[in-house]
Amino acid sequence: MEKKNFHRPATILVHQGRDRDPATGAANIPVYLSSTYHHRDGKPGEYDYARSGNPSRDQVEEAIALLEGGIRGFAYASGMAAIGGALSLLRSGDHLIAPDDLYGGTYRLLTAVLPEQGIEVTFVDTTDPQKVQDAVRPSTRGLFLETPSNPLFKITDLRAMVEIARRNELLTFLDNTFMTPLLQPALPLGIDVAIHSATKFLGGHSDLLAGLVTTADPELAHRLKRFQNALGTALPPFDCFLLARGIKTLKVRLEAAQAGAEQIARRLVRHPAVAGVYYPGLDDHPGRSVHLTQATGPGAVISFKLREKSQVPRLLETVRLPIIAPSLGGVETILTHCWSMSHAAIPSQVKTGLGICETLLRISVGIEDPEDLWDDLQAGLEAD
Ligand SMILES: *Cc1c(COP(=O)(O)O)cnc(C)c1O
Repeated sequence: MEKKNFHRPATILVHQGRDRDPATGAANIPVYLSSTYHHRDGKPGEYDYARSGNPSRDQVEEAIALLEGGIRGFAYASGMAAIGGALSLLRSGDHLIAPDDLYGGTYRLLTAVLPEQGIEVTFVDTTDPQKVQDAVRPSTRGLFLETPSNPLFKITDLRAMVEIARRNELLTFLDNTFMTPLLQPALPLGIDVAIHSATKFLGGHSDLLAGLVTTADPELAHRLKRFQNALGTALPPFDCFLLARGIKTLKVRLEAAQAGAEQIARRLVRHPAVAGVYYPGLDDHPGRSVHLTQATGPGAVISFKLREKSQVPRLLETVRLPIIAPSLGGVETILTHCWSMSHAAIPSQVKTGLGICETLLRISVGIEDPEDLWDDLQAGLEAD
């Protein structure tokens, strides 16, 4: 597994760590639907029992390690299983710092599950390094990050966070789902553990749940492997096949979607029904300059606020192209009402305090023709 690969990202995406079946030369790694592996002559071979490892899973685990610059990758049954797997590096009695503007499912894990396991969590505005430093206690062991944040696209300076973490001996975790390793390789910035909900852009077709984790630290890799095997949260072989297939086209999909998103964002800004647009691709986005020091593009997801609450149901009833759902990163455009869908797990007062209001929508731009998308959205914005 600990292979070096000096190819550029587009090539790694297509060929990954292994690109053909060593046994037969088949152009794709087969779906190894076996729970257990024969011990030839009674001796254990490379594979033993599928929970511990199998060739279908090795393919995607090697792919994420190569893409992020890790020494080893881990594939999980969902993004949340990946986050849970990564956070099992913390122990009872540890304190974790996390952003106040966070994916709803992660918020639920950090507020409802970790405290019951003896891990205390403090939520702070990670866009302000001083606030992060001030939240550090003697028991602080971890710093969990997400940038751009979801759904308000606040930008956290990852280099400043790594500096604080090193000064205070904290482990840094980055949920890199929105940017993918293509736009924002996390480990080269000094992040210890990069996490992806591969359900989104890496899978790319809204046809599977998956999560990926990687690290460049051998000791952390060893512990992650132990937990993944002990908990049995790994990604099943057929889903590994789908994910490997999705990863091959990440670059062309993401570049097309991002180009569409840049057009849609600029048009939303000018539309009279829209009260505000949150997207790091816009010149006046407050975190844009920091974002561009750590990522090579703004991505393909935009949030926007409507002027009137009554416009929300009219928009959702009128649009025909986007799937109206809580997800992102598919080839098809996905429109989310954050309040009731992606952030439903966050209590109303907390959402309001964070600026997540009932008129906020998030659009994950797909790879349809942006002109058709805009026509459709415009009809929704102007419906009465
Ligand atoms: C979707 C998502 C997750 C959770 O991933 P699942 O695959 O749905 O479990 C975590 N973080 C972010 C930023 C996400 O968008």
